[in-house]
Amino acid sequence: DVFSGQKTTVFETMSIMAAERPGGCCNLGQGFPDNELEGPEGMKQAATAAMLPPNSNQYPPMMGLPELRQAVAAHSGRHAGLPVDWQRETLVTVGATEALAAAFLALLNAGDEVIFFEPLYDSYVPMARRAGAVPRIVQLHPPSWSIDAAELEAAFSPRTRLLVLNTPHNPTGKVFNQQELELLAALCQHHDCLCLLDEVYEHLVFPGGAPHVSLRSLPGMADRCLRIGSAGKTFSFTAWKVGWLTGPADMVAAVAKAHQFITFTVPSAMQRAVAHGLEHEQSFYSGLGPLLQRKRQLLAGQLQQLGFSVLPADGTYFLVADFGGLLPAGSTEDDVAFCQRLVRDAGVALIPASAFYADKATAPRTLVRFVFCKTDEKLQAAVDALRSYL
Ligand code: PMP
Ligand code: GLN
Repeated sequence: DVFSGQKTTVFETMSIMAAERPGGCCNLGQGFPDNELEGPEGMKQAATAAMLPPNSNQYPPMMGLPELRQAVAAHSGRHAGLPVDWQRETLVTVGATEALAAAFLALLNAGDEVIFFEPLYDSYVPMARRAGAVPRIVQLHPPSWSIDAAELEAAFSPRTRLLVLNTPHNPTGKVFNQQELELLAALCQHHDCLCLLDEVYEHLVFPGGAPHVSLRSLPGMADRCLRIGSAGKTFSFTAWKVGWLTGPADMVAAVAKAHQFITFTVPSAMQRAVAHGLEHEQSFYSGLGPLLQRKRQLLAGQLQQLGFSVLPADGTYFLVADFGGLLPAGSTEDDVAFCQRLVRDAGVALIPASAFYADKATAPRTLVRFVFCKTDEKLQAAVDALRSYL
């Protein structure tokens, strides 16, 4: 079967190693915010109230609760400049993960080619393959994670059905700029391909850096792009697993056909609380960019002092650093071995960057990902543990 060579996802593996380490561990691996950075209290109260009378605890509508779909449509108009019809152009899913899986199942036929940028989020390629598609992978080149236009153009073929774009980008923190988006828009229109836009980190962009622009907002792109959002990222409620998808009515209807047989619907209390958040708690997500930028600077400065080389980023709560300078001359230790050693001996869990490569042979060998949506105290504790170990 397609998943037979597939290991358990690195995020689960690392979090278990961190949780089970005798003496404790600073978990800067899997991307989830500390309790102190969680979304607004008002949303937790809305979730609790949503389970009590007069609200229903029975199946909500398949496409999502009208109040959440209306809030998603308003949010799309307000922040992305993309007004959508809530009844025909929105769908609520069990996190962005389900939106991605349902979109792959709905849009791809056997033999269709899908273009991805690498490094990439680890669910993309296995799910696209399971849908019968063939991945065509284009490298982002460190340290600035630039695109080589010729490499991108060469990835398109008459079989190209879909391009997947994640911006702001996990794990690099890259925010694709206007020039890059224009190149993508031109190629997608020339080759008449669809786009799946993973924009779960849309609000996690740093002041002064590249602003987040949706590829869907470029001329000629609205009819071929589906955008994905997540309450896990926008409100730091990763446990709630509420995601949404907006786009042209025909594409949304196609994805809904897959969604109806994967999960059918999404827990209603969580939907009500996220509707409340999108409508009334905008100050929470507008504050995320400045907060995270400060935390990134705090962590980056100390990592540089320890001998890591920190790569640039304009958003997200991920930081990629090169540890090559910390290795003794002649060492061939790779990122996986380095992370295993750190979790075991230093009590700091990170994610090896090669986990974001479908083919490990093409992955850089000395890059690791840190997560910094943690309290300053926890970030400091991780740096202190690294300093005393390294
Ligand atoms: N896409 C990317 C790029 C992500 O980083 C994540 C979060 N792990 C997801 C999708 C999945 O989001 P969710 O938790 O809403 O399923
Ligand atoms: N998106 C999160 C990350 O990149 C983790 C998601 C997961 O654990 N599946 O760390």
